[in-house]
Amino acid sequence: MSAQPDQYGVVGHPVAHSWSPFIHGMFARQTGEQVVYRLHDVLPENFRGFVLDFFSRGGRGLNVTVPHKVAAFEIANELTPRAERAGAVNTLAIQRDNRLLGDNTDGAGLVHDLRDNLSVNLAGRRVLIVGAGGATRGVVAPLLVLRPAELVIANRTADRAQAFAADFQDLGTIHGCGFDELTDVSFDVVINATSASLAGEVPAIPPTVIRSDSLCYDMAYSKGDTPFLKWAKENGCTRAVQGWGMLVEQAAESFQLWRGVRPQTRPVLDALRERAITSS
Ligand code: NDP
Repeated sequence: MSAQPDQYGVVGHPVAHSWSPFIHGMFARQTGEQVVYRLHDVLPENFRGFVLDFFSRGGRGLNVTVPHKVAAFEIANELTPRAERAGAVNTLAIQRDNRLLGDNTDGAGLVHDLRDNLSVNLAGRRVLIVGAGGATRGVVAPLLVLRPAELVIANRTADRAQAFAADFQDLGTIHGCGFDELTDVSFDVVINATSASLAGEVPAIPPTVIRSDSLCYDMAYSKGDTPFLKWAKENGCTRAVQGWGMLVEQAAESFQLWRGVRPQTRPVLDALRERAITSS
């Protein structure tokens, strides 16, 4: 008889909409790894107990999504440098000595999507990130490694963006501000890292931040255009992309941490495009 497959999953609240089981199922078939991957909808007050129970029953790894990324950071016994820098964990892995390793693959996921899938070179470019929540915390350091001319973080609550900029000052040219400071300035790349799209809204930034040749990237993703993508196109942007690629790439980073092999992401993105992005 063959051995039981190793247990993985994603924990969040809510999590029913997640595409992670589909993505990791494709990765497992592609690489021949014997794994099962399940959804776990867990309330914040039950998160710690759930995680300890999952791993004590032999679970091998968890993806962690909203609202548990900071709790996962606190529960990990060890952190990768990128998780430590982010202050948030989206991947937990049990190690040989039974200690829990916390990693953050969001930044690497975004960088792979921009660089490898979209052929965007950030070196010397002016980059705007709108939003200063957990996702921004994960992507700032990996983006600064690519040496943009300037990285501006603009947030509805300006002091959160300013605090971010202060935290990452040592890594490159970074500035934090409110939306009202974004006048008379445009960017090569504009990344929406707010959760506004989830509520059908667009952050109140002036359209002058984009030019026709700017890349507009929404970390959020949906069937059809997100509100931010619609807004970008209405304001003349010819290259507007949503975060499906980041989703698949950050999952591939997690899979690599767990199984030691990085799956190919292109076939998974193609399958998602067929099932989730263009199907009605
Ligand atoms: P958080 O809840 O941590 O942060 C939310 C941010 O959005 C805050 O900066 C908040 O501003 C801002 N915001 C919310 N609503 C509005 C609004 N109406 N107008 C302006 N700003 C608003 O969320 P996360 O950082 O975890 O996630 C952000 C987005 O990134 C989500 O859409 C999420 O789905 C997506 N994401 C995608 C991933 C992918 O793989 N594609 C991976 C991770 C995240 P304020 O501080 O003023 O409240």
